[in-house]
Amino acid sequence: MTGPRYRFAPSPTGFLHVGGARTALWNWALARKEGGTFVLRIEDTDEARNRPEWTQGIIDALAWLGVHADDPHFEGPYFQSQYADQHVATAQRLFAQGAAYYCDMTPADIEARNKAEGTQGYQGWSRDLGLGPGPGRVLRFRVPPGTTVVHDLVRGDVSFDNALIEDFVLLRGNGSPMFLLANVVDDLAMGITHVIRAEEHLSNTPKQQMIWEALGAQPPVWGHVPLLVNEQRKKISKRRDKVALEQYRDEGYLAQAMVNYLMTLGWTPKGDSEIAGWASMEADFRLEDVNHSPAFFDLKKLAAFNGEYIRAMTPAEFLEAGRPWLTAADAPYPVDRFDEGVFLAMAPHIQPRCVTLADAPGLVDFLFQPEVAVDAEAWAKATGTPEAVAVFRGALAAYEGLGDWSADALKAGLEAVGEANGLKLGKAQAPVRVAVTGRTVGPPLFESLECLGRDETLRRLRLAAALLP
Ligand code: GLU
Repeated sequence: MTGPRYRFAPSPTGFLHVGGARTALWNWALARKEGGTFVLRIEDTDEARNRPEWTQGIIDALAWLGVHADDPHFEGPYFQSQYADQHVATAQRLFAQGAAYYCDMTPADIEARNKAEGTQGYQGWSRDLGLGPGPGRVLRFRVPPGTTVVHDLVRGDVSFDNALIEDFVLLRGNGSPMFLLANVVDDLAMGITHVIRAEEHLSNTPKQQMIWEALGAQPPVWGHVPLLVNEQRKKISKRRDKVALEQYRDEGYLAQAMVNYLMTLGWTPKGDSEIAGWASMEADFRLEDVNHSPAFFDLKKLAAFNGEYIRAMTPAEFLEAGRPWLTAADAPYPVDRFDEGVFLAMAPHIQPRCVTLADAPGLVDFLFQPEVAVDAEAWAKATGTPEAVAVFRGALAAYEGLGDWSADALKAGLEAVGEANGLKLGKAQAPVRVAVTGRTVGPPLFESLECLGRDETLRRLRLAAALLP
């Protein structure tokens, strides 16, 4: 595949952060839209913090969002740890050409020298000592004088005064490469043309651009995407907030809703709704249109998006998506009693009440429970007046004689009994609902009774009637 080469380069030190997921999606959208490539590179060089299961978790979570290896625009995953030799060789090349030098000062030496001289940071003290490699010696980049201008697609040109950038470390004292170096060497080797990543990396960028330039290469196009913040306007973090994409997936958020929501964190699709399908977002997305200020990761809005996507599903799609919850061992009914046909009939009546797929079992439980546990307090309250008792008995009688077991007929029957006893439909429904579903609130009653069926509805009504005074 020719064309621009974007990449996503997560470190597998945890779950896929929702901010990382947004960065991945934006890169993905651009790579596809521009007929280019999305490279997935796992930056697994921090052995103390990496775990193989995190790597797989990230790959799976991306695939769930639709960023997957069987798409022709996808390349990888590559693993940074496999390129350590190249990182070191590149560092040696920089040393050989004079763009880097060895330094034998320890952190304690640097601190003492700063104290003595009233300075801060590393002041290039070993620049001209002509040291060669040796145990404990770090390799530092020789920051040239002048200004480094980073052309950033999100923020425009950002200038950095090189005098304020210390000679940073490329190789540690044990010879291992630092992130700044490894990241550039891989981007260069993988032909990356666009580095679109989190804003927190912006301070690394002038240093990395200097490495690109010292290697005689054309730096990539940069784009630093704004932070995600919580309700308190604090950067969202795994200590304070729910940031793992996998957690949303496991709680019953839909991939399409998550994709739509993440895409619009800091970017507004064309048209009058933020609810947009992938194809139109991919066609319209531009980094130049991304908002510079932090984006509010609003859980209420995410829930609203999810609800909207759930409502838009056909019953069959809803069943398929909800199946892991509907047939889970901990569903609030014996799983072998779950009936797809009954569920499909009920689906349109519960979809508007679901925020996540995990809400579905609790809305249909009464259809599949052999017996419902009638809430005693609710029952006492619903049947607390003589009118209510009369309506309940009347409803049972009317339903026993009902020829057409449809929601409309069930409603008309109860309405008539209610009217005869001076109760509006809302009040008249209450005892029937409690008797049949066990609760005072739930999906639309008459549709529920229709789905539950004549025999089971009448059986439950009769059982409850026996409880009446
Ligand atoms: N591994 C780095 C991170 O996860 C990625 C840096 C980059 O995208 O250049 O923050």
